[in-house]
Amino acid sequence: MPSGGPEIEQLIQLLARLPGLGPRSARRAVLHMIKRKEQLMLPLSAALDRAVVAVKTCQICGNVDTVSPCSICADPRRGESGMLIVVEDVSDLWALERAGPGQVRYHVLGGVLSPLDGIGPDDLNLDTLVARAPDYAEIVLAMNATVDGQTTAHYITDRLGPDTKVTRLAHGVPIGGELDYLDEGTLSQALRARTQI
Ligand code: ZN
Repeated sequence: MPSGGPEIEQLIQLLARLPGLGPRSARRAVLHMIKRKEQLMLPLSAALDRAVVAVKTCQICGNVDTVSPCSICADPRRGESGMLIVVEDVSDLWALERAGPGQVRYHVLGGVLSPLDGIGPDDLNLDTLVARAPDYAEIVLAMNATVDGQTTAHYITDRLGPDTKVTRLAHGVPIGGELDYLDEGTLSQALRARTQI
């Protein structure tokens, strides 16, 4: 039997749908908020209200921002390198931005091709990528190193054609990684992708 009344129970159920939170973590989070109603629950509620109104998906790249075109697409310096980085999801874009890649722009696919999940080319932002590609000197495919991610990368390479310079992120030994702990696939890929020092 849930405790705390239907409003609280609904809050727990909604929070439990967030990635990384199950019912137990959601219950703890809600209880934590209730105990700190003034300092946490009210500001969080107000911030959610403001974000709901302000949030926009960039019509050019698919990034999430409070303006569209997003601040990256609207910044003319971002076009200087001629590099367009293709990512699966907005979270990947934000992860790359944290790495400080310089004056680059992005294209968010909104997922990857996945026959098992019924996700085909029409479900992704592929046509807009093909339309943007001629404006860039290099298209960097930054798909995840999963089977679906690599399948999608091959598909995009075919769609863009031989006249487009397409590169992908290096796969191999992670920073701080010990060889003995890596799987054979990662090791053989790292050996193939070796670079001169
Ligand atoms: Zn954008």
